[in-house]
Order: sequence, then C-alpha cells, then structure tokens
Amino acid sequence: MIESRGLRCAYPGSDPFSLPDVDVAQGGTLLLRGPSGSGKSTWLALAAGLLTPSAGEIVVAGQSVGALGGAARDAWRARHIGFLPQRLHLSEALTVADNLALAFYAAGLPVDQAALARTLDTLGLKELARRRPSQLSGGQAQRAALARAVLLRPKVILADEPTASLDDDTCANALALLRQTADTLEATLVMATHDARVCQALPHAQALVFEALSARSAA
Ligand code: ADP
Ligand code: MG
Repeated sequence: MIESRGLRCAYPGSDPFSLPDVDVAQGGTLLLRGPSGSGKSTWLALAAGLLTPSAGEIVVAGQSVGALGGAARDAWRARHIGFLPQRLHLSEALTVADNLALAFYAAGLPVDQAALARTLDTLGLKELARRRPSQLSGGQAQRAALARAVLLRPKVILADEPTASLDDDTCANALALLRQTADTLEATLVMATHDARVCQALPHAQALVFEALSARSAA
C-alpha cells in the first residue's frame, strides 16, 4: 500500500512544486506517466525516502516516510524498498554477485549466500555472477539491478523508466520479470515511464498521469 497526500518538493535554487496524490493497494501495479520533467522521478525519490518533502505526507507499506530520521530512513529503505533507479548504479569494481551482496551491507545484515544464489538463479544471472557490469548487455545489467533491488524481498518495488534503453524483446522480458517478481513477493509495483510499450504490456495496471509542471502551477 502506498498513499501520498499533498506532497510538495523544493529543490535547492528552484521554485517548489506540488505532486499529485497517489493511492495504490498492496500488491497493485501503478504506472506514473507524463512528460519529462513532470515530477515522476521526484515522486519515486520521495516514496523511497531519498528526498524529504517540504509539505505533505507519504505512507509506504504502513510507514510514514517523513517520520523517519536519516539513519533510520536509510535502514528502512534498505530493508523494505526495492528501488530500481534509472541509472542502475552497479559498481564496476565489483562482480555481479558482489553488487548483489551490497544489498545486505546496506541493510546491516550478514550476506545470505543461499538467498543470493537463489535470486541470481531466478533472474537468470547464475552464469553471469562473476562478470563485471561492463561485461553485461543492457537487459542483463538491468536484471542484475533488479536482482539487487529484490534480494531482501521488499513489499514495494519502485522502478524509474525501467525500459527506456531496452529494445522491444528485452523490454517485454524486463516487464514480465518485474511483474512476476512483484507477484512472487506480493509486492506493490510502481513504475515511472513515458514508454508506450509499458502501457500496452500492462493494460490492467492503474495509471496516474502527471501533468507538466507549467500546467500545474498555472492551475
Ligand atoms: P520526471 O521524472 O517526470 O522527468 P523529475 O522528477 O526528474 O521529472 O523533475 C521534476 C522537476 O524537478 C523538473 O522541473 C526538474 O528540472 C526538477 N529537478 C529534478 N531533479 C532536480 C535536482 N536534483 N535539482 C533541481 N531540480 C531538479
Ligand atoms: Mg524521471
């Protein structure tokens, strides 16, 4: 379950803007649509507690994100949120397997090798575990980032433009994998996208259209 109400965001040096209210039931899929610059990534960052709103509240899986202070919020995110950023942030200094292990370190947990092996297997990464990120195709790198995001079995998966740089086949596979993974975990899935292929592939998903900021501030 995710609910946001009256959220406003103020980036340093620019005018604050408001974000639309969001409601998505536990286990549901929500697509955040709308033009570039309309606030989709900002909303995801607020939901993940990576940004703090200047007004409003967001409750994610029963937790009011704003009620958590810095370190508690980092720990909460690491344990409960599967965040798939637009730029994947895989470390080239580490193998695929060790990039996944980072999820345990971030959560302050010992590395569970069995869970790690299981996740690599489920996401078709077993043969790629010893590779570096630069030795992966775009679709494989994205699977590795998804594997890291879901390793701790989060109840919420947030994905930012997950198909933007993928060809049609890889796009279809990535979406199927995201939805399957969310189903297995009974997780809520929120995806920011301006990719028409995503809306076609998930015709039953709830969609929320973010209007351009200029249209919103004029209203
Ligand atoms: P979208 O994901 O829909 O493209 P964003 O959430 O990235 O939109 O951006 C919403 C607005 O916030 C835009 O006007 C953008 O320029 C601004 N913005 C985004 N990130 C930053 C930042 N780090 N600093 C200042 N302004 C930002
Ligand atoms: Mg964005």
